[in-house]
Amino acid sequence: MAKPKNAPEKTRPAKLDLADLIKRARKFSRPYRVDNGKKFRLKDADPRDTAGLGSEAKPQSKEALQNGIKALASLQDKLYAQDRWGVLLIFQAMDAAGKDGAIKHVMSGVNPQGCQVASFKAPSSEELDHDFLWRCNKHLPERGRIGIFNRSYYEDVLVVKVHPEFLGAAKIPRELIGKDIWEKRYRDIRSYERYLANNGVIVRKFFLNVSHAEQKRRFLERIENPDKNWKFSASDAKERAYWKDYMKAYEELIRETSTEDSPWYVVPADNKWFTRVVVAAAVIDALDSLGLHYPEVGADKLRELAAVKKALLAEKGK
Ligand code: AMP
Ligand code: MG
Repeated sequence: MAKPKNAPEKTRPAKLDLADLIKRARKFSRPYRVDNGKKFRLKDADPRDTAGLGSEAKPQSKEALQNGIKALASLQDKLYAQDRWGVLLIFQAMDAAGKDGAIKHVMSGVNPQGCQVASFKAPSSEELDHDFLWRCNKHLPERGRIGIFNRSYYEDVLVVKVHPEFLGAAKIPRELIGKDIWEKRYRDIRSYERYLANNGVIVRKFFLNVSHAEQKRRFLERIENPDKNWKFSASDAKERAYWKDYMKAYEELIRETSTEDSPWYVVPADNKWFTRVVVAAAVIDALDSLGLHYPEVGADKLRELAAVKKALLAEKGK
């Protein structure tokens, strides 16, 4: 049959070159990775950075993100099938930096069965009755899964450091609250993350670095747009008044808890499209570093499969 005139040429969707994408993801996310915090300075991290890409790169970045999401889904499938490693992704940021959106977009292609998200708010009285890692420990990902912490135990060296009166509420014995309490917490976190790594749970931490000016713009948008009102609370604005203290606390914790095993990614967050691509790239890099593969099927299993196939094909009727 003749092709009708003006019929669009059928273009086959380009096959995803996974190896190439993984290589690019590593290169793309590396500049934002801090695995030795000693030299880290927050003032060197520009929230507006887009790796030289202008806003005209936005459509391309959306496509890159879509490809990244496909790659992630394929890696996660192996992670799940293999059932050996766990992956913990921690998201920390000031309000309105885009944590929820980044989590939603980056994980959108991932099988929900292989993923678990936990959000940590001001602790309940039950949680205050325990050490600060307790509530997070309960939500660690199982092997084969990706766990996401929307905030985490890092709040205990952030909001609690900025408002030390919260230590009182935490029921820690008074004599343990000395000047060195933050040092001790950094050390405990480093040990905890090393313990996780030693047990097959890899940790990647993301600080979405939004600027003071962009936060103001997003707060105003949340106030002016009725659909976004629910996202805003007056306490968010109160915390904004402590911006400098928070930045100091972020800088210090990144300096103290960035390691080769559990690095921080300081992700520019003034442009959401860019933030999401960097996060997706870093997660792809993390999964790739595990050398994932589907479990190998042994000779016994192959024989079993062949026997069942034979029986199925021999069935009478449909
Ligand atoms: P959101 O994630 O915007 O719903 O806000 C949760 C709030 O809980 C933030 O203001 C956090 O700072 C606060 N929060 C989380 N962990 C703690 C903690 N350990 N102590 C006090 N406040 C916390
Ligand atoms: Mg909030």
